[in-house]
Amino acid sequence: MLRINGNRLCEKLFEMAKIGATTKGGVCRVALTEQDKLGRDLFIKWCLEIDCVVDIDQLGNIFARRLGRNNAAPAVMIGSHLDSQPTGGKYDGVLGVLAGLEVLHTLHDANIVTDVPLEIVSWTNEEGARFSPAMVASGVFAGEFSLDFAYNREDKVGTKLLDALVEIGYKGKSEVGNRKYKATFELHIEQGPILEAAKKSVGIVTGVQGIRWYNLLLNGKETHAGPSPMSFRKDPMLTLSRLLPRIFELTKIHGPDAKVTVGYINAFPGVRNTVPGYLDISVDMRHPCEEILFKMHQDLTAIVNVEKHIDQDVGHLELVWYSPPVMFDTGCIEAVKKATEKLAIPSMEIVSGAGHDAVYISKVAPTSMIFIPCTDGLSHNELEHAEKVDIINGTNVLLAAVLEMANDCDLEFRN
Ligand SMILES: [Zn+2]
Repeated sequence: MLRINGNRLCEKLFEMAKIGATTKGGVCRVALTEQDKLGRDLFIKWCLEIDCVVDIDQLGNIFARRLGRNNAAPAVMIGSHLDSQPTGGKYDGVLGVLAGLEVLHTLHDANIVTDVPLEIVSWTNEEGARFSPAMVASGVFAGEFSLDFAYNREDKVGTKLLDALVEIGYKGKSEVGNRKYKATFELHIEQGPILEAAKKSVGIVTGVQGIRWYNLLLNGKETHAGPSPMSFRKDPMLTLSRLLPRIFELTKIHGPDAKVTVGYINAFPGVRNTVPGYLDISVDMRHPCEEILFKMHQDLTAIVNVEKHIDQDVGHLELVWYSPPVMFDTGCIEAVKKATEKLAIPSMEIVSGAGHDAVYISKVAPTSMIFIPCTDGLSHNELEHAEKVDIINGTNVLLAAVLEMANDCDLEFRN
């Protein structure tokens, strides 16, 4: 069975990490800066060395194509990003791009031509560290944002994304989104602790969890902490003390994938010897399954409504943001799973806690992701680290999954 060259991949990862290297061992290769340009230049040089055809679209997304037997057919794509956080690590994003390059390099060395073409994509400004929102270029590609919206994003000093793109010479000519894919994969570090704790080398990513954000306002009455007896008070802290256990109980009712976070409780006026006039509370609920997340929403509403039976003026719950769960393509998930089985790599199914370019791309093409563990779950951190054995395992799984999707019959039996 075909295997990638782990040493070559790691050498390239370290070579790329020299661009924007920080003293603490991380990288600063923020989108559309000089360092980003140098990273892009190096990536393109490597793609040209293995005879890829490089194309750049109007948002600076880079497409490196390896021709197949039927080049009119939709390609199989491997994508991630080369930009980093200002104090980022050596693996977030860049691993997915260079693993794609290593997959193509392996096929190049073995003289294997796939039925459909293959493409590596490096998406512009995934991190959103300089231009908000994150994943803006893959978002435009998938039709989530307009090109003008992306061009008009401004950094802290008022530089527009379009001007920064032109400045580094990466505003290409191709129309954004004008490409069709048969399947797409993104290899990424997990950015959390689950795989490491479970001692698994590869995560078969089935989707991305959904998010509901709420503002919870609880009314009280400002009262002096001394003279007023407890029975005379309208204290929103007392209401909250009844609500909180029931809100957290939702994670027990709806299983281990249910997450509830109360990120802040602001009391007003926030004075030691005054019963608060009101509380402003945030609630963040997450679940990978849309139906269960909706059930959690209904339960949360019911919990607050119970208090309304005691006091009509208890306050209110307001949904302020909803990002539905993403379920990746079953065919792509199956290809990744089959690859882990063929290669006998310890793996488990996992749901992504973070957003990725693959989330937007999954709206326009069959998509899934492959995770590998990162030490202590650390990411967006200069100390971010991934073990070589996991990098190799993840990239071999990527190679096998890509071949599975790029050929009509199994290459293992052909070669
Ligand atoms: Zn990333």
